[in-house]
Amino acid sequence: MNIHEYQAKQVLAGFGVPVPKGKPAFTVEEAVKAAEELGGPVWVVKAQIHAGGRGKGGGVKVVKSIADVKKEAQNILGMTLVTHQTGPDGRLVRRLYIEDGSAIDRELYLSALVDRETSRIAFIVSTEGGIDIEEVAHATPEKIKTFQVDPAAGYSPFIGNEIAVALGLKGDTAKQMGKLVKSLYDAFVAKDMSMLEINPLVVTKDGNIICLDAKLNFDPNALYRHKDIVALRDLDEEDPAEVEASKFDLSYIKLDGEIGCMVNGAGLAMATMDIIKLFGSEPANFLDVGGGATKEKVTEAFKIIVSDPNVKGILVNIFGGIMKCDIIAEGIIAAAKEVSLSVPLVVRLEGTNVEKGKEILAKSGLAITSADNLADAAQKIVKAVKG
Ligand code: ADP
Ligand code: MG
Repeated sequence: MNIHEYQAKQVLAGFGVPVPKGKPAFTVEEAVKAAEELGGPVWVVKAQIHAGGRGKGGGVKVVKSIADVKKEAQNILGMTLVTHQTGPDGRLVRRLYIEDGSAIDRELYLSALVDRETSRIAFIVSTEGGIDIEEVAHATPEKIKTFQVDPAAGYSPFIGNEIAVALGLKGDTAKQMGKLVKSLYDAFVAKDMSMLEINPLVVTKDGNIICLDAKLNFDPNALYRHKDIVALRDLDEEDPAEVEASKFDLSYIKLDGEIGCMVNGAGLAMATMDIIKLFGSEPANFLDVGGGATKEKVTEAFKIIVSDPNVKGILVNIFGGIMKCDIIAEGIIAAAKEVSLSVPLVVRLEGTNVEKGKEILAKSGLAITSADNLADAAQKIVKAVKG
């Protein structure tokens, strides 16, 4: 789960992480009031969307008067901000953050994530902050350094020191850096984050360290124990169909293709998407209905798939294990009737009671094509859609 920059900064400030003073604003009036309260003399007006690259896209403006705060707030609020992370459709800006402007000397990069290869929390740092880190990684990979924290030994001040050295910091600035890394580590662990990115992490003209941007990502499986974080969720930033799916415990990700997929199990869902591509089409979504694919879940999944106008056909690929194939077949029929399906539907069932399941589908009187295996199913749906 993602949150906005201003929320991330609030969370981090709770752990003693230095961030500029700032206030969120939902209207131009609130933006002006926030700027007056902050007092200036330099303000930054920042679009709040769940995507990076806002600066380049025109969503971050440094200004030197309240009149300019107002002007930029008017420009940015309600704009569709397109960045390299939003995709071509961009994102509507509904919230602003008005922040104290910092006098920047150097822009550094720091992130932390759970490194799945080493099963450790890793810090990734670079002296080349502020700009696209992907670009740095591509052009000058030697400028990116990684530091692992051994969970058995726990955090050691040594790591903070090493990071300060890697970033070329000295004296009190290096000391501040050490303290910051420890605070970030504590926050990361306490809040079950999966990713934390500070870009840029800034050294100010007077030698202080401050986080000018913050992106946090939380492990969805741990959200049950972080009600405070869940409360920060902004549904406007999520795809409506994905929000709907999450209510029914379905893992759904919308994609750009034309074949809707309904599958149980993430691995099978990936394989299904791959084979659709192999036979010349594109999946319209990733959808995992989970192990216990009940009739209700199948129906909701159908509704979500057909609500996508790009869907020209549906492929159901379900392995009846926990749920038997005959029960699934009945669920599919009920769902297909309820949503009055108007696109071709190919169903591949495998597993317990598969013959019974196929028989139920065949006798349903609905235009459902049965398939025998994954390749057969993919070929049939691609043919039905492409003709
Ligand atoms: P994004 O990563 O989405 O482009 P950032 O928050 O990193 O957004 O802002 C982009 C750039 O704007 C930063 O690299 C920095 O140069 C400048 N900036 C952001 N916040 C401030 C601030 N509080 N004071 C001064 N400059 C800032
Ligand atoms: Mg940034």
